Amino acid sequence: MFQRNSVNVGYNVQASIDSKNKLLVEYETGDVNDTHALSTMAIATKEILKVEKMDVLADKGYHTGEELMECEKENITTYVSPKAPSTKDTGLYPVTSFVYNREEDTYTCPAGETLTTNNVWYNHSNPGNNPPYRFRRYTTPACKTCANRDKCTKQKQNGRTIDRSEFADSMERNNCRVIANPNYYRQRQQLAEHPFGTLKRQRGFIFTLMKGKEKVLGEVGLEFIGYNLTRCVSIIGFIELCKALKKVLFNYFKPHSTILFKPF
Ligand code: SF4
Repeated sequence: MFQRNSVNVGYNVQASIDSKNKLLVEYETGDVNDTHALSTMAIATKEILKVEKMDVLADKGYHTGEELMECEKENITTYVSPKAPSTKDTGLYPVTSFVYNREEDTYTCPAGETLTTNNVWYNHSNPGNNPPYRFRRYTTPACKTCANRDKCTKQKQNGRTIDRSEFADSMERNNCRVIANPNYYRQRQQLAEHPFGTLKRQRGFIFTLMKGKEKVLGEVGLEFIGYNLTRCVSIIGFIELCKALKKVLFNYFKPHSTILFKPF
């Protein structure tokens, strides 16, 4: 598993939890890190829950433009904590000081000038395993005579350029939702801590005994089933759980019609 520019030997288990009952819904592991896990997990969870639309709450490790856009396409509303902009201080105006004007599709720079795009989509090849993405470039001829130019760009010939990725709209909509609904987003930690706190602290599930994706998923699945069964006892009670299990198992083994539980 490649994480934060280092290699960790282990399995990065992804899991989704439903907010109503705090049950584990979907889980997966493999060589995908958090950055590219959001849409796959969210879409699989939506299919399991059989819902038309769904909200998904995730921490900033999952904040990737492409993933946010994929969720939007599937009627999944994201609340993913925005990543802080790069803190690398170049001594130049940061990109955050340029304001995007959605209706005009332009940017306003710190000098109040308007940057426009020629509407050409360029390809940006990402380093590492990251897929390439497309972007449009915004410029203004005002840079040529700008008194603030030294504070804005080191480009000798061309002025300052602002690149806007094809995922920027999805990212901005997500970021606005998170900022506008801080209490809603805060539920993420409570939801995630409920099962993982129980599994790790109470049941000591901090490592797997098995190796290999298939076996690890099997082991994780057993732990998660155990957790969900305990939750179900708390939610609907032991008797109702047994009745529900009986119904499920009866349907599963229907051809044999075997009585699996004594009737209550
Ligand atoms: S250099 Fe260009 S983009 Fe930067 S402040 Fe001046 S006019 Fe605006």
